[in-house]
Amino acid sequence: MDLGLKGKKAIVCAASKGLGRGCAESLSRAGVDLVIVARTPGPLEQAAREIGEASGVAVTPVAADITTPEGRALALEACPEPDILINNAGGPPPGDFRDWTRDDWIKAVDANMLTPIELIKATVDGMIARRFGRIVNITSSAVKAPIDILGLSNGARAGLTGFVAGIARKTVRHNVTINALLPGPFETDRLRATVKSVSEASGRPFDEVWNARAESNPAGRFGRPEEFGEACAFLCGQHAGYITGQNLLIDGGAFPGTL
Ligand code: NAD
Repeated sequence: MDLGLKGKKAIVCAASKGLGRGCAESLSRAGVDLVIVARTPGPLEQAAREIGEASGVAVTPVAADITTPEGRALALEACPEPDILINNAGGPPPGDFRDWTRDDWIKAVDANMLTPIELIKATVDGMIARRFGRIVNITSSAVKAPIDILGLSNGARAGLTGFVAGIARKTVRHNVTINALLPGPFETDRLRATVKSVSEASGRPFDEVWNARAESNPAGRFGRPEEFGEACAFLCGQHAGYITGQNLLIDGGAFPGTL
């Protein structure tokens, strides 16, 4: 399908690997020029080279922490008028809410709620003026079905979801949509790190824990970042202008509800 995105410009946050990279790759295949952001220059520059060589689009790496005002300024300086914004950042750590301080909460809210809101604020009026804009927030299946040890994530991402639900109805008449993708378990370094800690805590081999978790998903496997990226690219496409304010779960059917 031609997504009608050739020559558009996107900022993809947290994109040197994992889900952000999956989104960057799919957008590059649709002909979108990219600014990709991640903290560590080496892997980020390599990702930019690989994506650019495979697709032929311009890929500009910006090594920055997107959760800081300075990091966001650098990303916006590299792409002041994005047509597409993919909001993403590392997720907060697991734990027990009794141990979390006010600072832990501020950090989580900053990274997973206020950072996307700041970037939306900085870009949405330009999109409205140009009569095209697509904003996709990568959140988590935890927004729909909270995960007990991920209280910081459940809370901060739910705050973002509530805010977006309001403004996504204000922008759509200008052909600017705002949606969220809610990943269930995807094969990324983050999932590998989670499985590693379960394996170490339980004394069970990594492969055993990994395979059991994959098998327990209705799909019998984890999701792949490429699959996530293709869904993201569709939401960014010209044909998706009537889809806004939605929270699309991509979890292999793990959420057991009817709706
Ligand atoms: P990942 O660890 O594979 O990749 C994270 C990417 O983000 C890397 O490129 C890293 O450099 C970059 N990054 C992290 N923090 C950053 C920051 N502050 N500034 C700039 N770049 C930053 O992680 P992933 O699995 O792709 O997860 C992406 C998001 O999706 C996270 O918020 C995670 O909590 C959420 N999520 C993932 C899963 C899953 O199964 N993979 C499930 C639910 C939610």
